[in-house]
Order: sequence, then structure tokens, then C-alpha cells
Amino acid sequence: MDCLFCAIANGDIPSQKVYEDDKILAFKDIDPQAPVHVLIIPKQHIKWAFDITQKNSGVVAYIFEKIPEIAKDLGVDEKGFRIVNNCGDAAGQSVKHLHFHLLAGREFSWPAG
Ligand code: 5GP
Ligand code: ZN
Repeated sequence: MDCLFCAIANGDIPSQKVYEDDKILAFKDIDPQAPVHVLIIPKQHIKWAFDITQKNSGVVAYIFEKIPEIAKDLGVDEKGFRIVNNCGDAAGQSVKHLHFHLLAGREFSWPAG
């Protein structure tokens, strides 16, 4: 399968890693939208949020368990941060491997555009 984030997860394509274990990888976005912009991915290929099921949701829960640790390691403080998942073309999902954006270091508007 030709998947950019699978290639990053298995080390075929280099990335600036900020956290890694056997299940997940967090690495700096190549085109940061904020002073802190990290992508957190499961190492297993899940195409998008539409494919989260009872069988594979454990790794999604695990990502969210790790987010506070990753955020703290990145120096994110109590001003807050934003977690974004784009699912599908209308939402702007350009890489079809489930990922969560962790954005911090500036103010974020809401409602989202
Ligand atoms: P999406 O638009 O699918 O929600 O997010 C994909 C993200 O992946 C974008 O923010 C984009 O900048 C980032 N990205 C695309 N290609 C690469 C790459 O080769 N390396 C890294 N580190 N980030 C990438
Ligand atoms: Zn993949």
C-alpha cells in the first residue's frame, strides 16, 4: 500500500519525531500552522475517522491518553491547545491515514472556518 504516513511510521521517510512507542508516533508537521504543530498517528493503517470501530478504537483512546504527556513535553502550557482531525475531502484530509493535529502556541478562532 502506498501510504505516506505508513512510510513515516516505519521509518522509510524521515520525520522529526517528538514521541514514539510501539503503537503510535508523533512528529512535527512539515507545514506548521502554529508555533507547535505535531501530527499524532497510529502505526497501524487506519484510513480515516470513518473507519474507527470497536476493534481498533483502543489505539485512538491510547492517542488521547498520551496527548497530555506529548503536549507537556512540547512545552504546551495551560493557555491550551487544539486537537484537529480532518475526515474526508470536504474537511481537507489530504493524507488518508488517520492523524490528529496538535496545535498550540497561538490563539485559535472558533467557530472553525
Ligand atoms: P490533513 O490535511 O490530511 O489533515 O493533514 C495532513 C498534514 O500532513 C498536513 O498538515 C501536512 O502539512 C502534513 N504533511 C504532508 N506531508 C508531510 C510529510 O512528508 N512530512 C510531515 N512531517 N508532514 C507532512
Ligand atoms: Zn497508512
